[in-house]
Amino acid sequence: MLVLIAEDEPKIAQSLQLGLEQAGFEVLLAWDGQMAQKLFAQQSIGFAILDVNLPYVNGFELCRQFKQQRPAVPVMMLTALGDVDDKVQAFGAGADDYLVKPFHLQEVLARVYAISKRYHAAEQPQLRMQVADLELDSDKKEVRRAGKLLRLSQKEYLLLETLMKARGRVLSKAELAERVWALDFDTGTNTVEVYINFLRNKVDKPFEQKLIHTRTGFGYYLKDEA
Ligand code: CA
Repeated sequence: MLVLIAEDEPKIAQSLQLGLEQAGFEVLLAWDGQMAQKLFAQQSIGFAILDVNLPYVNGFELCRQFKQQRPAVPVMMLTALGDVDDKVQAFGAGADDYLVKPFHLQEVLARVYAISKRYHAAEQPQLRMQVADLELDSDKKEVRRAGKLLRLSQKEYLLLETLMKARGRVLSKAELAERVWALDFDTGTNTVEVYINFLRNKVDKPFEQKLIHTRTGFGYYLKDEA
């Protein structure tokens, strides 16, 4: 991924560049706002780190422009110590995050990873998943087994999707409840068990190979164990 750093303080710019390069990123440095604009227009920037106070065009204005031109490029702003106004303005300009100077390089990297991951997940949802002959299309909200369309209720569908996304990992009843029933779930009820049974009746019962498995005392998982 190509990271644009707009920073006019050479020491900070260089340490950021070095740290990001060591972490495997490609880095372009701009030491003023105009240069940052130019690089953003010419290169396929995947992430922008913008200082607030820059010559010619400041970081807030750059952020606004970048977000208008390519909203899918994450922007992190570097703000001055203790300047509450800066933080407010940064988010107002559409920034995804801000860091207060002075900062640790590890903190920068951690945030770059976290923000990129968030964008990546939002951009490329897993549209189709398949385990053995069970297929789930989350675009159409359709489930097929051996090519045959299965009629699932919304909760059954969500439960199945959660199990499939876990790729064979055992999910506890509490984890499943949290993801499928969100917050209004009383963990004392046997709702998860009941719905697992509904799901088994539709997904597994008519077929020879069983895909939904119970790990007694731990929870459930979906896996092709053949
Ligand atoms: Ca500056």
